[in-house]
Amino acid sequence: MKVTEHISNAKNTLFSLEIIPPKKGESIRNIYDHLDPLMEFKPPFIDVTYHREEYVYKELSNGLLEKKITRKRPGTVGICAALKHKYGIDPVPHIICGGFTREETENALIDLNFLGIDNVLVLRGDAIKSEGRFIPTEGGNNYAIDLLHQVNDLNTGKYLEEDLENPNPTDFCIGVAGYPEKHFEAPNLQTDLQRLKDKVDAGAEYIVTQMFFDNDKFFKFVEECKAVGINVPIIPGLKPISTKSQATVLPSIFHLDMPEELAKELLACKDNKAAREIGVEWGVKQSKELKEAGVPVLHYYSMGKSTSVQRIAEQVF
Ligand code: FAD
Repeated sequence: MKVTEHISNAKNTLFSLEIIPPKKGESIRNIYDHLDPLMEFKPPFIDVTYHREEYVYKELSNGLLEKKITRKRPGTVGICAALKHKYGIDPVPHIICGGFTREETENALIDLNFLGIDNVLVLRGDAIKSEGRFIPTEGGNNYAIDLLHQVNDLNTGKYLEEDLENPNPTDFCIGVAGYPEKHFEAPNLQTDLQRLKDKVDAGAEYIVTQMFFDNDKFFKFVEECKAVGINVPIIPGLKPISTKSQATVLPSIFHLDMPEELAKELLACKDNKAAREIGVEWGVKQSKELKEAGVPVLHYYSMGKSTSVQRIAEQVF
């Protein structure tokens, strides 16, 4: 079932989460151990991130360095199939522009369609870690909107090869990312909002936001979206803080502001256990307020750690 159908059928705010594939070599059991305790909150859909390739350098016996390309967290499609099979939950695979030609993207979409997966979250993807800025793959898509057009094409039966006999149209529900505190590359929030509106006008049916810790920023973003004519559901993304260092790490990675009160409390913690307690408290406060405001879904970035999400959900759902 589509994410938008889950939303329109729901009487109350839904619980959902995003998971990351385990590192190469690890077992899918890690995913099940993470999800099992969260099943009581009945997530109707679960997002599975996609991780692009990275360069690694291996020292050779002659002292030279060999540059290799590797994907440290493969398995997105397999995990999606496993989630559907084991839990009967709708998986939402993330698909990204970076690292894929349009042909490879088409083949991945065909796989997802054959697996009965109804949703995709369409993203540009980040830069390769060592490259500093996003460089489009030759023959691939440049921006999320280009990838969105490709999924739209497939949804109307338009494949890259134009002379296929009776091409079968797919029917993916398409979500996109939004940034309450602006995407870091956008020159200003208004330009970023216009890009987001372009994605919605091109067929995105819902938006999932980057994490934020100040609900007022989310509420303002929703108002600004409405003002530019964005009328699709906007799902807030929430990250339960789990370490003291995240007070400074999260703002630097995700380009967001940590509210002064939260940062102060975290920096005063004597260890990560204390920081986790603050993270749960803050997460409960944020979630309750968002739920009261009638958001369609509370979407947790669980990052392989279920305990804090579970403790928050117990108090909110
Ligand atoms: P876009 O919408 O393409 O926007 C990127 C930038 O380009 C923005 O600054 C935008 O304003 C600008 N822009 C857009 N269109 C144009 C245009 N036509 N001309 C000029 N400028 C333009 N990354 C992963 O690698 N894997 C994941 O699984 C993943 N999951 C995510 C889930 C969520 C909910 C979020 C919020 C982010 C996720 N990311 C993931 C990170 C995401 O890939 C990065 O934030 C990336 O830098 C931008 O992706 P986007 O889809 O928002 O890009």
